[in-house]
Amino acid sequence: MKVVTTREELRVARAGLSGGVGLVPTMGFLHDGHLSLVRRAKQENDAAAVSIFVNPTQFGPTEDLAAYPRDLDHDLALLADAGVDLVWTPRVEDVYPAGFDTYVTPGGVADVLEGARRPGHFRGVATIISILFHLVAPQRAYFGQKDAQQVAVIRQLVRDLGLPVGIVAGPIIREPDGLAMSSRNTYLSAEDRPAALVLSRALHAAELAWDGGERDAEALRATMRQILAAEPRATVDYVSVAHPDTLAELATVDPAVGALASLAVRVGTPRLIDNLVLAPRG
Ligand code: AMP
Repeated sequence: MKVVTTREELRVARAGLSGGVGLVPTMGFLHDGHLSLVRRAKQENDAAAVSIFVNPTQFGPTEDLAAYPRDLDHDLALLADAGVDLVWTPRVEDVYPAGFDTYVTPGGVADVLEGARRPGHFRGVATIISILFHLVAPQRAYFGQKDAQQVAVIRQLVRDLGLPVGIVAGPIIREPDGLAMSSRNTYLSAEDRPAALVLSRALHAAELAWDGGERDAEALRATMRQILAAEPRATVDYVSVAHPDTLAELATVDPAVGALASLAVRVGTPRLIDNLVLAPRG
């Protein structure tokens, strides 16, 4: 496994890989959610590449950039075990050299949900992904459905700019009790950890209602809000039932299309997100 830092080292190492490359962009502090994507990238391509970069342009001024958890040695051991061929661990100046002043600004799909609460977040995401796709030139890139809006933004980016990269979305990997794996779960205190299960419980309740024939999106949102309200440690940021591609909030869910149920909830320190696809019926 080659581990490189500068753009020039990356260029040389990339040139040494033959065949199609599968890329997994990450911010490190890896868990089984990341590794599920890495394993798939390894299986489906001639070579697997991973980037580890806590990307400052996707963090707001009051967000957790400085405190974001990092453990590079452990990450590299996991990636070596998984048979990864190339890891790019740039410094900020390798990605954003002095004088850097070009950004990729996504459209409407980035303005709702996470984008509405985190202004500039998806501009930072679209910019780093554009740089990565250009420098690594992957045949496919792997993203987690955990960040469903990120997947929608990147699919739009690839379509609009005609980037020659296949986008693959992997399912959300969860702890045995249902909590979606996240590097930020490490911020959960022992008291907050059980309370964090309220996210997956709320989504599961919406799915049960959907399976039972509920098509009124507000009723589905109300089902989730009711469960979240019963957990005193949880502060709801948003609860959404939206079109699976445009992410526009729905009044009624078309059973032929389905919907994305998603939520953002603060539990103690961390702000957690989770989602579930209400799959089309009939
Ligand atoms: P991050 O390091 O948080 O930027 O995540 C890197 C990639 O891993 C993103 O595409 C995430 O959506 C994905 N990911 C994070 N957590 C999970 C999870 N629990 N299950 C599946 N994919 C995940």
